[in-house]
Amino acid sequence: MREAGGTAANAKNRRQFLRNAVAAAATAAPWPLPLIAQGAPHVVIIGGGFAGASCARALRKDNAGVGVTLVERQHIYTAPPLCNGILGGLRTLADQQFGYGGIRAAGIRVVNAAATAVNPHARSVTLGSGDKLSYDRLVIAAGIELRFDAIAGYSEAVAEQLPHAWTSDGTQIMLLQRQIEAMEDGGLVAITAPANPARCPPAPYERASMIAYFLKRRKPRSKLVIIDAKDQFTMQALFQEAWNALYPGLIEWAPPSKGGDIASIDAAKKTINTDFDTYNFAVASVIPPQKAAAIAARAGVADRTGWCPVDPITFESLLQKNIHVIGDAALAGAMPKSAFAAAVEGELCASAIVALIAGKTPAGAKLLSNCYSLVGRDYAISDTGVFRPVAGQYVEVAGAGGVSPLDGPPALRAEEARFAHAWFRTATRETFG
Ligand SMILES: Cc1cc2nc3c(=O)[nH]c(=O)nc-3n(C[C@H](O)[C@H](O)[C@H](O)COP(=O)(O)OP(=O)(O)OC[C@H]3O[C@@H](n4cnc5c(N)ncnc54)[C@H](O)[C@@H]3O)c2cc1C
Repeated sequence: MREAGGTAANAKNRRQFLRNAVAAAATAAPWPLPLIAQGAPHVVIIGGGFAGASCARALRKDNAGVGVTLVERQHIYTAPPLCNGILGGLRTLADQQFGYGGIRAAGIRVVNAAATAVNPHARSVTLGSGDKLSYDRLVIAAGIELRFDAIAGYSEAVAEQLPHAWTSDGTQIMLLQRQIEAMEDGGLVAITAPANPARCPPAPYERASMIAYFLKRRKPRSKLVIIDAKDQFTMQALFQEAWNALYPGLIEWAPPSKGGDIASIDAAKKTINTDFDTYNFAVASVIPPQKAAAIAARAGVADRTGWCPVDPITFESLLQKNIHVIGDAALAGAMPKSAFAAAVEGELCASAIVALIAGKTPAGAKLLSNCYSLVGRDYAISDTGVFRPVAGQYVEVAGAGGVSPLDGPPALRAEEARFAHAWFRTATRETFG
């Protein structure tokens, strides 16, 4: 919180903060100079995905007296939700991509640069250029880091052949789409699914569904296997019901109890080896285990799990003061790692920051997450959860959410498919538009 007066050390920090802020303003895109002149509180947000962009917008809307700088390394954000639809031919890359013009137009200063270091004591963020940004509060909304070293034979270089297509850069999903398009009919597509916690738990199964949708029409002799690190997965009965109805005999699911534990991958031989089987694939999408983005560890907010424990009301890190973590990087109890949740967390975090700056106590709130999965062209299913903070953790409110019904009529599945695309349009318009 900023107060008039204060100690000599505070005054020195304030002068340093202003010097750094002015220096940063001179080297990057303009931001309201009157705010700098007034020494307005400055919030830096690292990561312009659903979480960071929503937080930035909410901060601008809630309190015009707070300076907001959004640091994002990419010029174009490729939204992961529904990107599996590209594999089914139901969506295009252009449908998924968003620039930062809309966010700039909302009065937010966007710096297109990678944040390379955070100094929690000096309250500064270092950019790839070497420039530093000072903050009063920092929000880390940088998403995930893939643990390439977790699977023998897989690496960042191998991902250029066996795409994960799991981040917000569009090249991987297009690589996978081209590989499926080019494979011979009769080949095997393999998807490896990681253990939780991971980004969007239903998405590997949505991916299987969308590839099956493509194979059934274009390469009908081909098969697909999901080599899973889990013995159960979210909305399992709903997915399996849909696969039996839409793609009978096409999709095999291999959990650890049926030999699905990956021992190694050989990209040259195009094999995935488990303890019991060797799968010879034509195309493989390897989705490795994950952790919070690298900058979180560098800021000292990730714990031994690789994720970032936070206070569920303010999203302030439990490990570093004045740093908040939102979106997929955060470990917020039962909150799922979804775009829906990330955007809501961004808004809640913004209002907590405004309250903290004003010296008020932020109020806790219930949180909603709703996630659609495309299974066919006119067939989608969904999972809705309501969460509330209890004893320092988000817990799911029993009976408040739920999944689509089993044995649902085709009209309901088709309606959910329309809702999925409509949700995406609304969410991305509100976040990036
Ligand atoms: C295939 C797939 C399907 C999905 N489907 C759905 C769905 O249907 N519904 C749903 O709600 N969710 C879905 N999700 C999950 C959703 O995409 C994520 O939960 C969401 O993107 C998380 O948002 P985020 O802002 O935390 O992270 P991200 O979206 O990953 O954004 C993080 C941003 O931070 C930037 N960044 C990282 N490090 C730095 C740095 N050091 N400096 C500067 N910038 C940095 C990155 O470039 C990125 O733009 C899906 C995910 C996948 C992979």
